[in-house]
Amino acid sequence: MKKLLVANRGEIALRVMRTARAMGIATVAVYSDADADAPFVRFADEAVRIGPPPARESYLVIPAILDAARRTGADAVHPGYGFLSENAAFSDAVAEAGLVFVGPPGDVIRKLGSKSAAKVLAQKAGVPVVPGYEPGASNIEYPVLIKASAGGGGKGMRLVRSAGELAEAIERAKGEAKSAFGDDTILLERYIERPRHIEIQILGDTHGNVVHLYERECSIQRRHQKIVEEAPSVALDESRRAAMGEAAVALGRAVGYVGAGTVEFIVPGIPATPGSLHSGDPDGRFYFLEVNTRLQVEHPVTELTTGLDLVREQIRVARGERVQATPPQRGWAIEVRLCAEDPERDFLPTTGTLRAVDVPPTVRADIGVVAGSHVGIHYDSMLGKIIATAPTRAEATGILRAALEQTWVPGLVTNRELLARILAHPAFADGALHTHFLEQHAGELGAKPPGLETLRTAAVAATLAGIAARRSPPGQELAAPGWRNVRFADQQVTYRHGELDIVLGYRPEGSGFAFAIGGKTTNVSRYELAGDQLSYVEHGGHRRNVRVVADESRADVLVDGALITLEIEARFPDHAHQAVEGGLVAPMPGRVVKILANAGDAVPAGAPLVVLEAMKMEHTVRAPEAGTLRALHVSVGDQVDAEHLLAVVTP
Ligand code: ADP
Ligand code: ADP
Ligand code: MG
Repeated sequence: MKKLLVANRGEIALRVMRTARAMGIATVAVYSDADADAPFVRFADEAVRIGPPPARESYLVIPAILDAARRTGADAVHPGYGFLSENAAFSDAVAEAGLVFVGPPGDVIRKLGSKSAAKVLAQKAGVPVVPGYEPGASNIEYPVLIKASAGGGGKGMRLVRSAGELAEAIERAKGEAKSAFGDDTILLERYIERPRHIEIQILGDTHGNVVHLYERECSIQRRHQKIVEEAPSVALDESRRAAMGEAAVALGRAVGYVGAGTVEFIVPGIPATPGSLHSGDPDGRFYFLEVNTRLQVEHPVTELTTGLDLVREQIRVARGERVQATPPQRGWAIEVRLCAEDPERDFLPTTGTLRAVDVPPTVRADIGVVAGSHVGIHYDSMLGKIIATAPTRAEATGILRAALEQTWVPGLVTNRELLARILAHPAFADGALHTHFLEQHAGELGAKPPGLETLRTAAVAATLAGIAARRSPPGQELAAPGWRNVRFADQQVTYRHGELDIVLGYRPEGSGFAFAIGGKTTNVSRYELAGDQLSYVEHGGHRRNVRVVADESRADVLVDGALITLEIEARFPDHAHQAVEGGLVAPMPGRVVKILANAGDAVPAGAPLVVLEAMKMEHTVRAPEAGTLRALHVSVGDQVDAEHLLAVVTP
């Protein structure tokens, strides 16, 4: 293998290319127009444009990718995750083009791609599976979960709590499965309340060897999608770890698994006694869910606890080499997924331009964006993943939490602060994890409005940054900024934070400034701004360090772990025109994919009106109350920003 094409984008494309380069393998990126300047494109030795931004016109177009490989003389293709990574036809097409596919052969992907077929194989291999039912069965024990057999990414699941709801739910699930995955096969599974999600990393070679690299616990999820992952799992003792590992290997052997893959399980039961670290299920049961025939987002926690580089292992296996003896599991590693999404708005995706990107060096950061990167609506909302490792779980938690508090990603709303709060939660420290952790602890995990002290600091920092930026070069000072001929007449700036106006007065004092906010004065004797690192000394010698980026209209300040956004007065956006009576606005930026009513229609309360899609998420805007659809302001195919007026419904 001399030249590897990575058929993916963002952080995973970078992560794969780093290892390839370290192994002396040249790298080729493919990119859509949306990614022409992305870090992974710049990093690659060569890069080839494959189409416009929508994935189905670029990252999912097999001939375009193979053509890029041909043009650059690449001899191998790595699919990353998502996109074509679990597409059997892609694996076959790469092989037929005479190139090495860094992943399982098409027939292995095909066998495991359907969740129902994979469950049959697992059962044959003696692996316990979640009890399931035929759609027409009479012995169904509720609740049940309907899943799309071809589904993934937590999409297309539907919980049914009673027999009366089943028929309709099946119909809807089939429709959704057909439109999302092009296959309406569904399966019914017993719904396990509050399970843990624990999975086993496997690695197979072309000589018939399959080994496992222990478990990862990924129980903290939103929308059935993981956001915090760790290895090892507090819920496993040696015997259960061994049993799960053996089950995963048995299934891998049964299908002739080659490459890196993950066998996912759910494990019933949260800890029996609060404070106890272990799972409450006394029988030690675990149930097979599915196999992901690719590298997974959470693979770094396995790397940091085994010392292996899983991309290197994938490449070695693809070159025909044998899997190595499994190293021991050492220490603890925890990963969080940093996503452009708003936890306070049902985790809807957010977009914007990043004004800075900086993660402290105490952690591993696999990040696909840099300052100036635009995060749009076309792809996954994950900006990257941040991983800490330490000898113990408590230490790893502390390191990751501190790193998150210092992570500086101003410019768009992210889940960063929620992730830090999860790590700080006592139930996380206890290891009392399950897939509804976020719902169970929603009260404590919700965002708290910043305290007045924090806002005061942010306003002082924003003002100092403005002063420092306007300061004349040394030796040319005419007057200090803020200097006025009239003694004691303060300069005034008004900031807005949400609904709150913060009025700050300031004037020069000695070599610094005096700031007055809400009757309280802060005296700053010295300050320095280096890039976006502002350091200043308050009266009494308290030196503070904050991150700040500001322009004429807006300042972002990172104070004590909170990212505070201040709008600067003259430029307050005028929201007034958007406040149309009965107006329904887009809750997220996206593309209009469906319009389900016509202007003039009478609509019942809750009627679906407009369906938006962004980052593979669909969101339906519904009539808030029964009424008439007075106006529709969008058509199918339109791209809209958040807050865009979509429709008007009057009672
Ligand atoms: P799953 O959630 O399906 O069990 P993972 O946890 O490994 O599997 O997550 C894989 C998910 O990552 C994909 O389903 C997709 O939503 C997302 N993804 C795909 N490509 C990228 C990418 N380039 N960068 C970030 N995320 C991606
Ligand atoms: P996907 O392909 O979307 O990753 P999975 O079958 O792996 O689908 O399930 C994803 C998540 O959904 C699991 O981690 C778990 O939280 C939840 N889940 C799946 N099956 C069940 C079940 N039978 N009972 C309860 N929760 C489940
Ligand atoms: Mg899964």
